[in-house]
Amino acid sequence: MSKKAVALFILLALAAFGAWWLRTAPESAPRGPRTGGKLRVVTSGYVPYSLAKQIGGEDIEVQMLVPPGTEPHHFEPTPGVIIAVKEADLFVYTSPAIEPWTQDILAGLDGGRALAAGPVEEDQDPHVWMTPYGALAMARRIANTLADLDTQHAAKYRQNLKTFEKEIAALHRAFQDGLADCKSRAVVHVGHLAFGELAHTYELDLRSLSGTSHQGEHSVKRLAELVRFIRKGQVRAVFTEELVSPELARTVAGETGVRVLPLYTVEEVSKRDFEQGKTYLDYMRQNLKNLQEGLQCKA
Ligand SMILES: [Zn+2]
Repeated sequence: MSKKAVALFILLALAAFGAWWLRTAPESAPRGPRTGGKLRVVTSGYVPYSLAKQIGGEDIEVQMLVPPGTEPHHFEPTPGVIIAVKEADLFVYTSPAIEPWTQDILAGLDGGRALAAGPVEEDQDPHVWMTPYGALAMARRIANTLADLDTQHAAKYRQNLKTFEKEIAALHRAFQDGLADCKSRAVVHVGHLAFGELAHTYELDLRSLSGTSHQGEHSVKRLAELVRFIRKGQVRAVFTEELVSPELARTVAGETGVRVLPLYTVEEVSKRDFEQGKTYLDYMRQNLKNLQEGLQCKA
């Protein structure tokens, strides 16, 4: 081997060692945003967006990829979206069941920079944030990941999680108290089965138009069943998914003479609400208010 070749060999060996060293840097080394400045987080839809903002506060930059007013399940990522994910410090999504389109993007991304904040098990209802403590579990995963990626602000992220924990406990109590004494417990929901866990937790009798899968497989037969149920029962209102099926809910209400009230899945957000900075907690408080009104509960 010539002198030049030996020098080159040593150089290459050093470079390889350097790359290995960077990858296996000791746990105690402070970590932070790749580009300096604030940690850059991109999220799929509104649930992870709102929770990331809640935990990251002023210390992170958050961008939502699914535009406001868009249904998250059938979203098709543009090249711009794929680049935004690649350039971010962290990509937070809910779960493969909620956003199937994330899976192609994830294939080209290293695991430490992507987080499924919700459940990844296929047999679990993916709408976990529809109960206060399900949302807290998601927020906790986000807080842990942020603290891990940005050690400088870790204490702040944990503090924000503690604050959120208190708000979640208050929200849970408000649901328990607010739905304790109602004339009806039947929630007729002209939408997909997003409120199963919520109904289970607060002992409501939920009747949704379609399943959890977001495929919109509602049948005329099921619609007729709901109408029959309303006619013979104590039902005074039907609940609707504002951005998905308001016309269908209005048709049912027209047939039966009951009111229409929105229930928010928080999966999608209207442009107006997004600009006004409505949070997950705001939507859940509104859901409680509408349930109390529709079920005629004593507050
Ligand atoms: Zn859903």
